[in-house]
Amino acid sequence: KNNGRVYNFSAGPSMLPLEVMENVAAQLTNYMGCGQSVMEMSHRSKEFQAIIDEAEANLRTLMKIPENYKVLFLQGGGTLQFSMVAMNLLRKSKKADYIVTGTWAKKAAAEAKKFGDIKIVASSEDTTFSYIPKVKKEDFRADADYVHITFNNTIYGTHYGYIPDTGDIPLVADMSSCILSEEIDVTKFGLIYAGAQKNIAPAGVTLVIIREDLIGFAPAETPTYLDYKVHAENGSMYNTPPCFTIYVAGEVFKHILKNGGIPPLHQLDVEKAGKLYKYIDESKMYKCPVQADSRSLMNVVFVTGDGELDKKFIAEAKEKGLVNLGGHRSIGGMRASIYNAMPMEGVDTLIAFMKKFEEENAK
Ligand code: PLP
Repeated sequence: KNNGRVYNFSAGPSMLPLEVMENVAAQLTNYMGCGQSVMEMSHRSKEFQAIIDEAEANLRTLMKIPENYKVLFLQGGGTLQFSMVAMNLLRKSKKADYIVTGTWAKKAAAEAKKFGDIKIVASSEDTTFSYIPKVKKEDFRADADYVHITFNNTIYGTHYGYIPDTGDIPLVADMSSCILSEEIDVTKFGLIYAGAQKNIAPAGVTLVIIREDLIGFAPAETPTYLDYKVHAENGSMYNTPPCFTIYVAGEVFKHILKNGGIPPLHQLDVEKAGKLYKYIDESKMYKCPVQADSRSLMNVVFVTGDGELDKKFIAEAKEKGLVNLGGHRSIGGMRASIYNAMPMEGVDTLIAFMKKFEEENAK
């Protein structure tokens, strides 16, 4: 089953579409008959320029990214964006408002504090981040330079069921763990960023989608690499980009487009997560700590309520080829990350295992 491969429920890096990897493998040493691998190719070659241009064009089509937004392929992961966003976007009042919905949101705010006046306008830490706070326009400081949210919280398994109304204040969203899993109205955001290693490609590239009027405000002392303007003006090739990862990202975009774009993928994600949550809610052994209206389609968090039993579950699942089901090291329990490339059979196999484990271990 699954071509001799395990079902990998890792929060990232995670599974990629098998068809894409096979295609990449077939072209690995001689890309499209050009006599070399993309791994060996100069980023200044016309072959690579075509690869990055096509990747950007296909992403624009998939996400309906308007003309007045730049698409940047950067390095440094979501983590570097925590500081880059602050360095570039704290441009007038030097104030920014953050909604804290988990570890990554907290880290983003902590990093921004090094550069300006950061206010936590809402947090769900009181319940170990089990829900997404409902925030209104009046909750934000009128002169804030931007508002930052983490759209999907990988560790706690929560996701925004709404886009906060920030009025004229640009909204910045970390979409590392939900990008391409749903249609998003890009015009509602000033900046969207996402590390590649969940829904896009292997680790190594970070996507930044930024409205043009927000570019060009980094202070003069900003290191060159950390200024969005430098990357925007150089087509993401100010320096050597992560060529191979960008290539694989482009292949994933092509694959999604060929299969009808984001809507059918989202439908499948809804079905996969729906099945799993339904089973968890109906079972006697497992519990999902996340409030129903805040549940993530990508990261499904659950516990048995008994730490030792959780460990046994994770170990036995691994033996059955269901790997990386442990919750984040900071919270324990279980987490099934079921990103776009996890097939329905993976979810079905997991549920069948959960049922059997419940029967065998019922108290
Ligand atoms: N933001 C979110 C939502 C994440 O899930 C992660 C990592 O899993 C990060 C940021 C950090 O990303 P990176 O490891 O690419 O720096």
